[in-house]
Amino acid sequence: MQQKMQQITILGSTGSIGVSTLDVIARHPDRYRVHALTAQNRVAELAAQCAQFLPDIAVVGTAESAQKLQLILRQQGLQTQVEYGEAALCAVASAAQCDCVMAAIVGAAGLAPTLAAARAGKKVLLANKEALVMSGPLLMDAVAASGATLMPIDSEHNAIFQCMPHAYQRSPSQHGIEKILLTASGGPFLKRAVATLDSVTCEEAIAHPKWVMGRKISVDSATMMNKGLEVIEAHWLFGVPASQIEVVIHPQSVVHSMVSYVDGSVLAQLGNPDMRTPIAHALAYPERISSGVAPIDLIQIAQLTFERPDLQRFPCLKLAYDALQAGGSAPAIMNAANEIAVQAFLDRRIGFRVIDQLIARVMDGLPSGPVTDIESVFEQDRCARDAAKSYI
Ligand code: NAD
Ligand code: MG
Repeated sequence: MQQKMQQITILGSTGSIGVSTLDVIARHPDRYRVHALTAQNRVAELAAQCAQFLPDIAVVGTAESAQKLQLILRQQGLQTQVEYGEAALCAVASAAQCDCVMAAIVGAAGLAPTLAAARAGKKVLLANKEALVMSGPLLMDAVAASGATLMPIDSEHNAIFQCMPHAYQRSPSQHGIEKILLTASGGPFLKRAVATLDSVTCEEAIAHPKWVMGRKISVDSATMMNKGLEVIEAHWLFGVPASQIEVVIHPQSVVHSMVSYVDGSVLAQLGNPDMRTPIAHALAYPERISSGVAPIDLIQIAQLTFERPDLQRFPCLKLAYDALQAGGSAPAIMNAANEIAVQAFLDRRIGFRVIDQLIARVMDGLPSGPVTDIESVFEQDRCARDAAKSYI
């Protein structure tokens, strides 16, 4: 079938997801063209991406980075327009020329441009789970109001999407869905003696056994806050209550998640742990395109195992269920405290076990308020960050 060329904006193109997205796009030049690329400050990498993909616009974090990028691009004779700052991110996410936006900025910084893309009715490929955790109702409302399409990129949510009935309408009981089984690798500390977790290093925490990812999500995987964020993400994406979302540890990371139906059927999506699979799926949906990922070899894998998560070992997972239960701005408060705590851990200012203690303290100290508009979310986010910083 003859395809209309899709114009793509990639928010966070120098990150792990951004690079994987460009890898898939490069395999299908007949289908996809890059409208805009954005990066916070890795100017040299962004310049190299511009040289390869020839976007109309490139956006960086600061005026200084913009100047540097502009210089490199002009030296190479490239005409890419260079912008900087949040307003420019929102502009490239909602531009008329753009059909589809990969939301792959890490953390709360991704919320405003992701929301801009949703409000503009784009096809939004959502990797930036923090945006949905912070403002689930607002983002889902924006999608519904504009007629945008929201496609999950997180491998678990993409797997769940693939196991859901066609045209699923965020109502599990209507479709005979009993629960979602959200798989988790358990990260690098699944078997490590709990008493020694105090002394783990950054290098140990970011060395994920199965996935190669950015530093923040890698630490989140080690604490299992990543799975906690994903429980909240699944709640908003699929309209399933927390009581029907069960986390299952599956160290092989082959089954990316499952949907259990009332007739006893459990549907699963399997594949190698490579984000190019969900990216290719979401880009081409409902068609299928090659992603560069080899099919799994079940004979070689031989064994798939499953176990219950230990909440003593992974208190962040419980904090996330608590935040979802509390509702309102509690998930945004938790997310903000987590971002500050993880950065402090990466900066070697706090120990690994202080991450969950700090988040719990911030959540205890700040009552959850209603999430009415984006300003109130950012206000709660700011308060939680200030509180978290005061405890470091
Ligand atoms: P990363 O750290 O590798 O990349 C982050 C990108 O965001 C970079 O391009 C960076 O320049 C940009 N960025 C960072 N701070 C910014 C700011 N303040 N303003 C604008 N841009 C900024 O992260 P990643 O691993 O690619 O993850 C990106 C998002 O995708 C995260 O929300 C993560 O949870 C989610 N995700 C990642 C994976 C994975 O396999 N890496 C899987 C599932 C979900
Ligand atoms: Mg995931």
